Amino acid sequence: MTGKIVDVNCKEEDRAKAEKGADIIRKGGTVVFPTETVYGLGADAGNDGACSKIYKIKSRQQDNPLIVHLADKESVGKYAHIENVRKYKELEKLWPGPLTIVMPKRETVGNVASAGLDTVGIRIPDCNFTRAFIRMSGTGIAAPSANRSGKPSATMAEHIMDELDGVDLIYRAERSRIGIESTVIFPEGDSCKILRPGAYTEEDLLKIFHQVTYSGKDDPVRSPGMKYRHYSPDKTVLRADAQSLLDYLKEHRDVLPIVTTETAKFIEGDKIVLGSLSNPYEISSSLYDSLRKLDASNYSKGIIESLPERGFFISVMNRIKKASVEL
Ligand code: AMP
Ligand code: MG
Repeated sequence: MTGKIVDVNCKEEDRAKAEKGADIIRKGGTVVFPTETVYGLGADAGNDGACSKIYKIKSRQQDNPLIVHLADKESVGKYAHIENVRKYKELEKLWPGPLTIVMPKRETVGNVASAGLDTVGIRIPDCNFTRAFIRMSGTGIAAPSANRSGKPSATMAEHIMDELDGVDLIYRAERSRIGIESTVIFPEGDSCKILRPGAYTEEDLLKIFHQVTYSGKDDPVRSPGMKYRHYSPDKTVLRADAQSLLDYLKEHRDVLPIVTTETAKFIEGDKIVLGSLSNPYEISSSLYDSLRKLDASNYSKGIIESLPERGFFISVMNRIKKASVEL
């Protein structure tokens, strides 16, 4: 691990600490920062050389675009053609928050950050410290999740310290509150397409759009990023509903269960507890850490409990499915 670690708190704008990272960004370096979704690995969105470092550190495919993180609504128009997005005024109200809007880009976004596309995904994260850091850097910060490509996203600074080399600074805060990546949408007039489900759900978006669809396998690849494998631990993870999982455990002892608090009560041996079904963010915020714990364990495989596919759990299940195979 390289990179200096600075402890921060998302509730507070500590200007002295924020200036350290801002200075690195202005000089073309890379900074890891906390957000409410996952940790980001950021660089100046307008500096191709700086953004190239991100791809190298993550071993990320060059054609997978980065999300540009901004501090304030006032600066969005500098990076994207918001005037071409009919529902922009309503969408903007969801920021700061776990929403990335894909819009036609302006030339302020470098070609490396946008992976040569004519669109840019923009997000204003809900972490006061991080917004102060972005504001002081004086530029948009292009950032993917702070993990090696293909691994579950980092939701704790410890995940990054184990995994990434060559970062100039790491801001360490608490575990990410939501713990899965932002909802990515592509608005088209009165309709919108969900490119990646997240904490803002189809129901939330239906308050703004007449029609909301999910990008399917048959769609043209709007963003090359959508074709890559994501969110997977190294070990095999099976997936089953609570009852089938408990039945399977009666016959098999060589598998580590990853379950809700409700199901954990019925399991005596080793297990990883995600959290309670009555507290969805408890589950989502511990998901990636749980997958990483499985990789670090002595077990050669895991079995994870399927969640009821309603509302926000649709988004959590989207990540669980990518990381597992059905029993
Ligand atoms: P990550 O790979 O963790 O950075 O997640 C970023 C996600 O946002 C990926 O799924 C990207 O494909 C998507 N994304 C970023 N920029 C764009 C864009 N301009 N168009 C479509 N999707 C995008
Ligand atoms: Mg990622």
